[in-house]
Amino acid sequence: MKKWEENVRRVIPYTPGEQPDFADMIKLNTNENPYPPAPGVQERMKEMSAEELRLYPAPAADSLVEELAGYYGLKKEQVFVGVGSDDVLAMAFLTFFNSKKPVLFPDITYSFYDVWAGLFGILYVCQPLNERFEIVKEDYYKENGGVVFPNPNAPTGVELPLSDIEDILRHNEDVVVIVDEAYIDFGAKSALELTEKYDNLLVVQTFSKSRALAGLRIGYAFGSQTLIKYLNDAKYSFNSYTMNRPSLALGVEALRDDAYFKETTAKIIATRERTKKELAALGFLSGDSKANFLFVTHPDYPAKELFEALRKRHIFVRYFAKPRIDNYLRITIGTDAQMDELIAFLKEYIRRDI
Ligand SMILES: *Cc1c(COP(=O)(O)O)cnc(C)c1O
Repeated sequence: MKKWEENVRRVIPYTPGEQPDFADMIKLNTNENPYPPAPGVQERMKEMSAEELRLYPAPAADSLVEELAGYYGLKKEQVFVGVGSDDVLAMAFLTFFNSKKPVLFPDITYSFYDVWAGLFGILYVCQPLNERFEIVKEDYYKENGGVVFPNPNAPTGVELPLSDIEDILRHNEDVVVIVDEAYIDFGAKSALELTEKYDNLLVVQTFSKSRALAGLRIGYAFGSQTLIKYLNDAKYSFNSYTMNRPSLALGVEALRDDAYFKETTAKIIATRERTKKELAALGFLSGDSKANFLFVTHPDYPAKELFEALRKRHIFVRYFAKPRIDNYLRITIGTDAQMDELIAFLKEYIRRDI
């Protein structure tokens, strides 16, 4: 190692799901929405001109913040936006997790949490999920420097009931509690209403999954005015113009078409439930997912083997070579036709052995 390298802030980065590009592929590996964004987004894109890009965007992202505040019935001072919820979460870790005591999050969870903790030098202790992959609320009652978990959890899809979240909040009034609701629109109950009662609760959501805009990078958070002000102070000390002009304009359009949003999320939920039954008929086991993916295991077929076999057929799902979950596959819910192809392949694969 060269002398100068000793002072480098070295990190082991997060590994995002692969982004393969084959004409015939069925991409069920990064929880994208199989349906296009709301039609208004396409319309607005057609009206856009490169001339708009000459100027910096609004630093406070006012148009999108106001639209979000209106949609969720909040004041604009209670809303923060960022470049995907990854940006919002990273900023929240940096702003709120500044204690000598460890931050708590589940052992099986979004694999970016330990990466941010490493990058920012935040101490953390993982709390094991139980055998059914549920968060055990009592594990979060001990002394800590902050709490963060996704609800529903990723990659399990398991929901923590709102009453348990409130119990965790009651035991954690002296630290910031972050609930990462990336998948909340697929059937779980949001903790948004609890932000009224708990000024230390930050609820984070995203346009990437339920609003089919992963490519645009829009995330947002709700919380008390005090909490959001702290977040904005940190953001303005880092990069003032995080939200680009196209994202601001198109994000507003996506929020305006609520009928389309409700229709597409309902379709994904229906496809999830049907796929779950069909996978169960093939012997797969899964929990009660409230997300746009299923987390499944098969008693007779190693997940890694299934993952490789699917991959050869250009059906991409996610496999994590990690303790406790290395025999599971996370399968994003696609269109009905895509799920039919997945099921047909698995039927064939399993029948070969009988
Ligand atoms: C997808 C995901 C995110 C990040 O999504 P963005 O595209 O950055 O908005 C955050 N948390 C969890 C649990 C996710 O699965």
